[in-house]
Amino acid sequence: MDIRPATLADMVTQSLDVWCWCNACCHHAVLSTAALIDRLGRDQGVLGVADHAYCGNCGSRDVETRPNWPTMGVVTQHSPMEPDAIE
Ligand SMILES: [Zn+2]
Repeated sequence: MDIRPATLADMVTQSLDVWCWCNACCHHAVLSTAALIDRLGRDQGVLGVADHAYCGNCGSRDVETRPNWPTMGVVTQHSPMEPDAIE
């Protein structure tokens, strides 16, 4: 079975944004798929977005990205999240 890595175009299809986690400080944010496509293009792999991102909190480039699946648990947003910077 050929499993194709999810791309930003797939995120649009599924109405998902991209979830970003910093391994250095545990800061996390949800990045707008539309904004990412503006910068990286629709064919950008979701996991590869991490190569272009860095933490908006501590500046670390040791970040992970994945689809922001709604099944990952209750999302608690006590304050508006600032998207991490994307090159
Ligand atoms: Zn960080």
